[in-house]
Amino acid sequence: EGEGTPPAESLRDEYEQLADLVRKYRYAYYQEDSPTVSDAEFDELYRRLEELEALHPELVSNDSPTQEVGGEVSSAFAAVEHLQRMYSLDDVFSLEELEAWVRKAEASVAKLGDSVPPIAWLTELKIDGLAVNLLYRDGKLVRAATRGDGTTGEDITHNVLTIKEIPRELSGSGYPSEVEIRGEVFIPSKAFLEFNETLVAAGKAPLANPRNAAAGSLRQKDPAETAKRPLSMYVHGIGAREGLDAKSQSGTYKLLEQWGLPVSPYLKVLGSFAEVLEFIAHYGAHRHDLQHEIDGIVVKIDDFATQRALGYTSRVPRWAAAYKYPPEEVHTKLLDIAVNV
Ligand code: NAD
Repeated sequence: EGEGTPPAESLRDEYEQLADLVRKYRYAYYQEDSPTVSDAEFDELYRRLEELEALHPELVSNDSPTQEVGGEVSSAFAAVEHLQRMYSLDDVFSLEELEAWVRKAEASVAKLGDSVPPIAWLTELKIDGLAVNLLYRDGKLVRAATRGDGTTGEDITHNVLTIKEIPRELSGSGYPSEVEIRGEVFIPSKAFLEFNETLVAAGKAPLANPRNAAAGSLRQKDPAETAKRPLSMYVHGIGAREGLDAKSQSGTYKLLEQWGLPVSPYLKVLGSFAEVLEFIAHYGAHRHDLQHEIDGIVVKIDDFATQRALGYTSRVPRWAAAYKYPPEEVHTKLLDIAVNV
């Protein structure tokens, strides 16, 4: 069937079933912080949905899961409009796919000519936690929210105030009058194990994995409960800004660090795809020696002018991609053990 031809009923049925399944899994993951399938299984289903849509674009509607940033706002929290939209990331699942993505990005940047600098790749670890948006006005943390659907998030200010790595006030000088800082809240691997031991010792059920534990901890109704959880954060993005003079994302991180915000020690600015591949291989081999869990690597074009020129789709930036490491058998085994303690 070509474009424009109405798809057969059976195809539409299959498509709707798949889309509903993706919505259902997303609900369990984002709203209940309690996934019912593994990330690898979810990613495979999501991929199938994307493939079906690529073959039959007439199936795609505005409320298709591929057109939305997954995650709604629970009525348990006040809704917060982000000043600037928050996005997801374009996923790739193999090095070949990543190379294709990089070459395409290079070709797009080449078209911009001398208006932008040569590409520098800001390469970061993809922390498996929960995205938060921190709004600082005149150096004071005035609001913190979850990503939600990207436009509207959940007000979790009181809970975020219990995280000691997140400053209530920026230090130093020269900070902007208004800035949205995006980052990932996570539970460090060691703290996660220790916390689970205390739960088990108290006769309670242990938490299944650090990602959902972090998400569940941050979305508690009682901040006193959040305060008991060993949460931490690293910055990974900047939203709306007023009076911030930086040309690149890595340059901004240097400023954020001076103002007391937690910047990951693992990130690098690299000049070539070959170096990006080395970074991926290195952290692939050392992913369990790190402070926190990762599920991949994020590759970003560092320069802000280039980021602005490439822009966004309805769901993801065109200047960044997430390479996902292959799923690990070990992870499921750990889960089984955790659940059976
Ligand atoms: P994503 O997790 O693939 O990527 C986007 C997110 O990555 C950002 O919002 C940010 O929070 C995070 N991130 C971590 N480190 C980052 C860095 N250095 N720079 C920028 N961002 C960084 O996308 P998503 O839309 O949040 O969710 C999809 C993920 O959730 C997939 O991994 C999927 O497997 C999982 N998921 C699982 C289920 C399930 O049922 N198991 C359901 C839905 C989603």
